[in-house]
Amino acid sequence: MDNPKKVTILPLMTQHSDILIVGGGLNGAVMALAASQSGFSVTLVDALDSTLQTTPNFDGRSYALALASTRLLKGIGLWDALKDTAQPMLDIKVADGRANEGPSSFFMHFDHREINAGPMGYMVEDRRLRPVLHAAISSDDSITYIANTRVISEQETASGITVACDSGASFTARLIIAADGRRSQVAARAGIKRVGWSYQQTALVCAIEHELSHDGVACQYFMPPGPLAILPLMGNRSSIVWSESHSRAQDIMALDDAGYLDVLRPRFGSYLGEIKLAGKRFSYPLDLTIAERFIAPRIALIGDAAHGVHPIAGQGLNAGLKDIASLRDVILQARMRGEDFGSVGVLNRYQEWRRFDANTLALATDAFNKLFSNDNPLLRLGRDLGMGLVNAVPKMRRGFIQEAAGLTGDLPDLMK
Ligand SMILES: Cc1cc2nc3c(=O)[nH]c(=O)nc-3n(C[C@H](O)[C@H](O)[C@H](O)COP(=O)(O)OP(=O)(O)OC[C@H]3O[C@@H](n4cnc5c(N)ncnc54)[C@H](O)[C@@H]3O)c2cc1C
Repeated sequence: MDNPKKVTILPLMTQHSDILIVGGGLNGAVMALAASQSGFSVTLVDALDSTLQTTPNFDGRSYALALASTRLLKGIGLWDALKDTAQPMLDIKVADGRANEGPSSFFMHFDHREINAGPMGYMVEDRRLRPVLHAAISSDDSITYIANTRVISEQETASGITVACDSGASFTARLIIAADGRRSQVAARAGIKRVGWSYQQTALVCAIEHELSHDGVACQYFMPPGPLAILPLMGNRSSIVWSESHSRAQDIMALDDAGYLDVLRPRFGSYLGEIKLAGKRFSYPLDLTIAERFIAPRIALIGDAAHGVHPIAGQGLNAGLKDIASLRDVILQARMRGEDFGSVGVLNRYQEWRRFDANTLALATDAFNKLFSNDNPLLRLGRDLGMGLVNAVPKMRRGFIQEAAGLTGDLPDLMK
């Protein structure tokens, strides 16, 4: 992407915007675009160097984006630049598995044709998404993007909120949106406690090239040490997300590429033919962290700052995008009614919309991970029978497909 980055160097004086977003990761950047396109002036402050996020090896993840999330990306004008690199997810297959044994004969198969809404979602590679997002931010005159700068304090005032940065700059806004990730310091400084725990698991992530076509099918195998997802990318490539205990993951990461593939191969068998690595290998320690409140006076939390969940169902970013679309609806409607869009009364509507949904997701992914990440024969039998049952009942199957496509619940305008 050859758009020049707009990195603003500000004099040491207080600048004002309607909204100040702390954190320019995926959620912060999408929020900035959604808010600016709804008529709000936005300052986006990120601790990272502006060019780092758009380098191809910044992050090895690829995201399973639900249909509803891709509607949001269309709504804010990003989809045209992404669609040619996004792989449609046509079917999802879920099964129990063990290394060297292949999948169990009890499985669930979700076929997109059962809901007549097109693909259930798309696989979008991080290395494609970030440059597109950053180009859009750079060319948006209502967004002031300040990189390489850390927000260090917030102070409520009579009509808004003031933030101070480690650069010495300060800003005022009517509303702060905290998109500063799982260890949100904005939330901590606002006295918001978190609930959560480590999974003692690390997700190993890589892209592979394979001999045979994946036909747009995403596979999830529940292996005793943790889930293994094989997610289709454009061409004969797939993204692998594979969870192991921390120590085992460390040992596997220490292997050379050939040794790494030797461990991976028996986990999913030969259905894609010969495989080889397509790029670097990455690892992500896994934990659950959910904020007890999603708001404080003049502050709203979004994305991982509000809820960081296990990637077992590929729902973390989808949930963050739903926060963004919901918060955007709430503050836009408030401003149209002449209300103070940063007031607690308005922010409460956002919290009521999103907190139950996000808590349910956190609990469901936690329960799934605990139920499936073990080799207890009774649990194995129970879950195999459960999967066989869901697979046999069309109504249950369709419910799962709607859920995977993000089409359930009260959808914000940008996701309809
Ligand atoms: C292995 C794995 C696979 C996944 N797969 C999927 C998937 O398939 N589908 C899906 O929907 N989700 C998936 N997720 C989840 C998804 O990756 C996350 O939900 C998402 O990336 C979180 O983005 P964020 O912007 O909220 O937070 P972050 O990416 O953590 O960004 C936070 C930003 O805040 C900045 N920051 C922090 N503190 C400050 C400060 N004081 N001042 C200024 N800036 C600050 C940081 O520099 C950073 O840029 C996966 C997660 C993992 C671990």
